Amino acid sequence: MDETIIIIGGLSAGPSAAAKARRVNENVNILLFEKTEYISYATCGIPYSLSGTIKKRDKLLVVSAGLLRDRFNIDVHLNEPVIDIIPSEHKIKTPLGEYQYTKLIYAAGSSPFIPPINNLDQTKDWTNCRTIEEYDKIVADKVVSEKENITILGAGLIGVEVAENLKEIGKNVTVVELASTVLSPWDSKFGNLTESVLTDHGIHVFTNTTIDEIKVENGNIKEVWLSNGDVIPSDYLLMGLGGKPNTAMLASKGAEMLRNGAIKVNAKMETSLPDIYAAGDCASIMNIQTGEHDYFPMGTHANKGGRAAGANAAGGEEYFKGAYRTAIVKVFEYTLARTGLNPRALKMMNQDFESTFIVAPSTPGFYPNSKDMFLEIYYNSNTRKILGAEIFGEKGVDKRIDVISTAILGNLTVDDLPNLDLAYAPPYSPAKDPVIVAGFVSGDKGKNKFQEISVDGLSSILRSETSEKHQLIDVRAPIELERQGMIESSINLDLDKLRDNLSGLDKEIPTIVYCARGLRGYIGAMILENNGFKNVYNLGGGFLTWKKLGMEIKSYSFENK
Ligand SMILES: Cc1cc2nc3c(=O)[nH]c(=O)nc-3n(C[C@H](O)[C@H](O)[C@H](O)COP(=O)(O)OP(=O)(O)OC[C@H]3O[C@@H](n4cnc5c(N)ncnc54)[C@H](O)[C@@H]3O)c2cc1C
Repeated sequence: MDETIIIIGGLSAGPSAAAKARRVNENVNILLFEKTEYISYATCGIPYSLSGTIKKRDKLLVVSAGLLRDRFNIDVHLNEPVIDIIPSEHKIKTPLGEYQYTKLIYAAGSSPFIPPINNLDQTKDWTNCRTIEEYDKIVADKVVSEKENITILGAGLIGVEVAENLKEIGKNVTVVELASTVLSPWDSKFGNLTESVLTDHGIHVFTNTTIDEIKVENGNIKEVWLSNGDVIPSDYLLMGLGGKPNTAMLASKGAEMLRNGAIKVNAKMETSLPDIYAAGDCASIMNIQTGEHDYFPMGTHANKGGRAAGANAAGGEEYFKGAYRTAIVKVFEYTLARTGLNPRALKMMNQDFESTFIVAPSTPGFYPNSKDMFLEIYYNSNTRKILGAEIFGEKGVDKRIDVISTAILGNLTVDDLPNLDLAYAPPYSPAKDPVIVAGFVSGDKGKNKFQEISVDGLSSILRSETSEKHQLIDVRAPIELERQGMIESSINLDLDKLRDNLSGLDKEIPTIVYCARGLRGYIGAMILENNGFKNVYNLGGGFLTWKKLGMEIKSYSFENK
């Protein structure tokens, strides 16, 4: 009997599996079933089509069914949902018939979570924003052309991208998020930095909030009522919430699952059911760092997992060993990126870690258009192995996160970073790249007695009863203080005059030093350290980070010096 591979799902993982299976095996029959009329389009591009950044809808349609048939000899069944799988008989059922398989690849993706909202069933003025059909509905409902007030529920990757793109075309956009910060997979400080970008661009952001009810008149949304009591005028509601794996069909056949319903797969993408593989948003991913099955649905993993499943189903041998939550998102002129484990995950794992936070220029100050980059790196306190990083900035964030992601896979320590031979020329980076600086600062902290204090740490010290037992020294030049203000209760001692003023300071009490970004604070901390001060801290990220995170500042003038 001829061998047959059946693939369920035709968007990312499915077509990737199909094409790879054909490349591995020219003789096997390959059937792909997709319940809609579309295959292989770029969901990731949908937000950018709303603003016209991607000008033509057709650009989203990456591979056609015709190409899969002609080039890869795949028998594509569009508009034919698979309604049952019978593993014991190696058979699937659709409304049109039954089909035998030798190997089955399950790539049915996930479905969005829709929370209970009063009156949502009274209107059609809402949709998710995940499929091409939903994109078409958004356009047909005149969201792009006519509607003015758009509310988005969920400030994850999709919600934030959609918010940006609708704002770009002049909409009045409100984002409502249940978590305490936008983009909650990131540490809260990075969420707060991002929120300030959204609000600076005129997007209304509500965190710790959800939508309880909508007011509908004649079938049209008029208002959105929030859990905090606020009422937001709205013409349309877009859902940007996470998804639940579409796995009911395999769950009922006894496949091993994660608690959220994702099908457990090994590195060959095999499920616990014989001859059934799974990949993409319906499947688990091995978290390479924790060694546990995890769930972080992304297009990149769907493609890699689909490729491995296709190869193995066709008789080849390919592995998708896993990933570690690397992600990136554009937020207007800024980029936010992450890789690996961040403080929240590390605390949940009870893992001892240290972090280094720096603000470094993307390119040298002498080269035009240099931008600040906020970079925090997390590493094991004992082995100093790099565990994760988060980066926010306007230029070069993508490159640095990928360098650190590569360092994680290579098991590098923070002390290896200064030895990386990174390319340097002024248009691309400073002579000391931010990744190298993160390594230097981490190394200095290891070798010297000075310590870094975070904005949160300093803020809680200043609010605590013991704050008078510290001295807080601003080592910037007075002209900078006059322009930008200073932190309450700090004294200004210009770095270049610090040595002349040591006698007025108390060597015995904890001393916190700060400058604009951290470098001069570090030099100041070392001067104090080398002059016998007992307990010296440098404010990581300096005054710039303090201010960007919305902390209290006071104005300064030469008179109140
Ligand atoms: C707006 C948006 C932006 C995104 N941006 C990014 C990004 O920038 N980077 C990134 O890495 N990821 C991004 N993603 C995530 C990425 O698109 C998904 O992780 C990826 O598409 C998942 O692929 P998949 O094949 O597993 O599932 P899906 O893409 O969900 O495909 C599953 C397919 O299976 C079909 N199907 C389901 N049930 C059946 C059935 N019973 N019978 C037949 N067919 C069935 C569905 O119709 C669907 O076509 C984004 C997602 C969205 C929605």
